Amino acid sequence: MNDVLPAQQGLWRYFEETVASVVTSYGYRQIRTPILEHTGLFLRGIGEVTDIVEKEMYSFTDALNGEQLTLRPESTAGVVRAVIEHHLLREGPQRLWYQGPMFRHERPQRGRYRQFHQVGLEALGFEGPDIDAELMLLCARLWDELGLHNLHLEINSLGQSEERITHRQALIEYLSAHESSLDDDAKRRLHSNPLRILDSKNPAMQSLIEDAPKLDRFLGDASRAHFEGLQAMLRRRGLAFTINPRLVRGLDYYNLSVFEWVSTSTDKAPLTVCGGGRYDGLIETLGGKSAPGCGFAIGVERILDLLQAVLPEQHAVCDVYVVHHAPQSHLAAIDLAEQLRDHGLDVLLHCGGGSFKSQFRRADASGAAYAVVLGEDEIAQGQATIKDLRQASASQAQVPMVEAAHYILEHGFGVKH
Ligand code: ATP
Ligand code: MG
Repeated sequence: MNDVLPAQQGLWRYFEETVASVVTSYGYRQIRTPILEHTGLFLRGIGEVTDIVEKEMYSFTDALNGEQLTLRPESTAGVVRAVIEHHLLREGPQRLWYQGPMFRHERPQRGRYRQFHQVGLEALGFEGPDIDAELMLLCARLWDELGLHNLHLEINSLGQSEERITHRQALIEYLSAHESSLDDDAKRRLHSNPLRILDSKNPAMQSLIEDAPKLDRFLGDASRAHFEGLQAMLRRRGLAFTINPRLVRGLDYYNLSVFEWVSTSTDKAPLTVCGGGRYDGLIETLGGKSAPGCGFAIGVERILDLLQAVLPEQHAVCDVYVVHHAPQSHLAAIDLAEQLRDHGLDVLLHCGGGSFKSQFRRADASGAAYAVVLGEDEIAQGQATIKDLRQASASQAQVPMVEAAHYILEHGFGVKH
């Protein structure tokens, strides 16, 4: 679990603001659900034979009342619970988004933490592939706005459960015939969740997986039409994608379209930064009236890792740093700082004592565009000296104190804005 220190906040904020603006442009509304939910919600909502439920949940008994609780490992289950509880679908289909921390007990490594953050979207009550396409186009727009260009879309169709059952039979037959080549994980999953074996990263099993019966042979007409509809819309918008028949996603509840965005920058190993798909059975499984759903979640830390490489470093804390003849000038300096803030400027007022030299050092480190100086002379004359900290020539001007804000605004302020 990580601390997110002040130096990283600029990056986080930039990401969060860009997300908020892009999702709003598609009409998604934010929902905030609790970080703690009843353990049973995740057992039913995620599926008992998934990585998450088998070994990644932080679950505990509430000592005060004996309830079984879990720190949310993902948010789809919680959002769907809230939508059912508050009857939101009675108002019509819902386009929702969320952001916040998730918790999974995994082995920490680059891009994999025990507390991490997701931004996710859930579109509930929409059947067609048009909403699937919308979600993918929205992602593409977000990457574009953020300036990320090395993300690639992979899609697949998981069909419907009857189709998967037939495929599953064929898969179990095939894998049983090759049981001696299976690793322990695969042997354990052979009868409980054979589809997940296709997702194995064990190099020794890759050729076996390559030749396994593919689900697409088992898809019926409706599933095929849904998948083709999605592809037609993506092509129409010129959004490049690859069909990856091995993309099955980690959670049990998906059907039809599933997708992932994978980072393909050359200097780092490929990493999935976003994953999602359709989950038409989930609302009913969690006790609601049957309705389709589709969504995705972005791994925020993984995106920020990529973003850091393309963004210029931003470290400005303020527009203006007030340097003054402390401590005698405290009263005048407070007045001046408040007056500058009245005009919308972000101001760091030097607090405590210290020489002008040390105050200027702090002004530089703050990233401020201007220092406003109140020395003994200035105070005596009701003046302030304004120093442009970004110009090599260090231009400066003396103006009446009450005009300091106007002067700065007129001369165009700020690296921050
Ligand atoms: P993986 O197969 O890599 O474990 P997953 O299927 O468990 O991924 P999802 O549940 O689909 O991941 O979560 C969506 C996204 O959240 C992932 O694509 C990833 O970017 C991010 N994510 C998942 N787990 C973690 C984690 N432990 N730390 C940081 N980010 C994570
Ligand atoms: Mg995982």
